[in-house]
Amino acid sequence: MQKDNQVFDLIQKEHERQLNGLELIASENFASPQVMEAAGSVLTNKYAEGLPGKRYYAGCEFVDQIENLAIDRIKELFGATWANVQPHSGAQANAAVMLATLNAGDKILGFDLSHGGHLTHGSAVNFSGKLYQPSFYGVEKETGTIDMDKVADTAKKEMPKLIICGASAYSRDWDYESFRAIADEVGALLLADISHPSGLIARGLLNDPLEYCHIVTTTTHKTLRGPRGGLIMLRDDFENPFGLKTPKGVVRKMSSLLDSGVFPGTQGGPLEHVIAAKAVAFGEALSDKYMDYVLQVQKNAQAMATSLVNRGFDVISQGTDNHLMLIDLRSKDITGKDAENALIKADITVNKNMVPFDDKSPFVTSGIRVGTAAITTRGLVESDMDRIVEYIDKVIANHENETVINSVRSEINEWMKGYPLFK
Ligand SMILES: *Cc1c(COP(=O)(O)O)cnc(C)c1O
Repeated sequence: MQKDNQVFDLIQKEHERQLNGLELIASENFASPQVMEAAGSVLTNKYAEGLPGKRYYAGCEFVDQIENLAIDRIKELFGATWANVQPHSGAQANAAVMLATLNAGDKILGFDLSHGGHLTHGSAVNFSGKLYQPSFYGVEKETGTIDMDKVADTAKKEMPKLIICGASAYSRDWDYESFRAIADEVGALLLADISHPSGLIARGLLNDPLEYCHIVTTTTHKTLRGPRGGLIMLRDDFENPFGLKTPKGVVRKMSSLLDSGVFPGTQGGPLEHVIAAKAVAFGEALSDKYMDYVLQVQKNAQAMATSLVNRGFDVISQGTDNHLMLIDLRSKDITGKDAENALIKADITVNKNMVPFDDKSPFVTSGIRVGTAAITTRGLVESDMDRIVEYIDKVIANHENETVINSVRSEINEWMKGYPLFK
């Protein structure tokens, strides 16, 4: 059969783009060749609706073993007692949790999208904001951090059934213990969506959400460095506190409700090729090499934040505990959109991002978000962070000067040749 060059030539171009540039998008990473091999395997051909041992299709002998491996490894990694590794993405994991635990019209409380929250935590344009009644907590203007007393006040006023902690652009660690106290006080379930820092949490570099949160969701492709996907975990299974019943009127354990929330609730057949890739990635995440990796991610982020602050950038909360940071560019007289556009011309990939108390639209924004997960996989260390910040500073200060931007791009392309990927 003739190769489909139209598609494969474009894949090759994307391959080169990933090799040439500095990848600072905080939600991206480079999965290992083994992870990609599993994701590109014959498992894509298999239907396996249901769970291992309880499938609606024949021929699941091997995918059952693979899915069980993924489940056992993620449980070991996080000290969980139950996991569902089928969610196709982080958004799907959250959809399954909400479908399983809430009724349409119930109240939810999440982190403000414009302060760094996620669409699936109650945004008006997302199912979570359309099916449920959302309210939000945010950060303080002066500190850029969450004031737990204010979260408690909002929770007591709104009386939500579900409280969500976790974000897409919050650089500080979370006080899950205080969130749980608030949830208990108002009779809410507590969900931690650790999509971003899950890799650092897995290896003990940040607070442990499973100790306090009823339910934990994450993506698998951010700091966890697996294939694109999501999952749901519990440390302690429990009778659902709202006495939620199945359509047949049975009260069930939370794990069982969550399994049904994934399938048949919100998904059809699981992506067994992706689940195999998750199993490979979770195996990698249990290794000493991955421990070194996450430690380096955190060191790099701290070095980058320090360097940004030293060069006069307004880093929200003045630093970071995890792998990312949010930069308010208003003091540099450039919008997030213009900064993103100038930086991509220099082969530096970042994303524009709303900053807390932003006065611009989500399409323009006043800030950018940067993270160190991908460049650390690439092999960069603390001493490289100042060089990156110098390039960012130079491009932003000269964002209309093509000559300067082109010279930065050539330097970056040359630099990155020393750090081959996918070897
Ligand atoms: C990235 C992210 C998600 C969504 O993940 P997708 O795989 O893109 O659906 C959900 N929640 C948070 C907090 C995220 O950062």
